[in-house]
Amino acid sequence: MTTQVNAQLVAEHVDELRARLTQLSPNRTVRIVAVTKGFGVDAPRAALAAGLTMIGENYAQELIAKHAELTPEEQARIEWHFLGRLQRNKVRSLASIVSVWQSVDRSELIDEIARRAPGARVMIQLNLSNEPQKGGAPLGECGSLVEQARAVGLDVVGLMGVGTVGDPVESAEAFSRLVGLASELGIAESSIGMSDDLEEAVAAGSTMVRVGTALFGARAPRTEV
Ligand SMILES: *Cc1c(COP(=O)(O)O)cnc(C)c1O
Repeated sequence: MTTQVNAQLVAEHVDELRARLTQLSPNRTVRIVAVTKGFGVDAPRAALAAGLTMIGENYAQELIAKHAELTPEEQARIEWHFLGRLQRNKVRSLASIVSVWQSVDRSELIDEIARRAPGARVMIQLNLSNEPQKGGAPLGECGSLVEQARAVGLDVVGLMGVGTVGDPVESAEAFSRLVGLASELGIAESSIGMSDDLEEAVAAGSTMVRVGTALFGARAPRTEV
């Protein structure tokens, strides 16, 4: 079962989020990826209607199914961002759909994406909290992964990270480290900040936030695999 969304309400939430981002960052545009995992195809539709075209998903099957339900016109307007733990064997089926691979965190994924989607836009995901169960490469591997991705012709557009839930101070420090690395490596985007840690992320220099709950409401717990 997927949770329904109310397009009118989503449009209001998008307006609120835009206003909040402008207030937090008056001189720099922070872009929004609308994260639609856990919701049906009405969520990307509502995001599109509210003027958001970057849509994020975490699970390969869910993304492929949602994409297939959209009309060709809608498909053409959406730029899908893949955000979840990525298995190497899923790259092939996603390659014609995904525009930006945000969760690239290891060497084998770089090679597979370069093979299946030559020249694709990627972000290197960093593990900011050193919790092994979370995705992301250790910060110390960032430079070599970026170098590898560039060497095989991928377009490294950003670094991505997830903050530590319930620890805004720790998240703020980790976000700053990510932004510092992006600047050192000449990488344009810092994809940091979700519904609950937007302030810290934008203060640290986020250029792109990934927001689900604050736009669409609470997700039903994930049951199937
Ligand atoms: C689910 C998810 C988001 C959005 O989270 P919200 O708390 O709903 O805003 C952003 N980024 C990643 C990597 C996610 O998995």
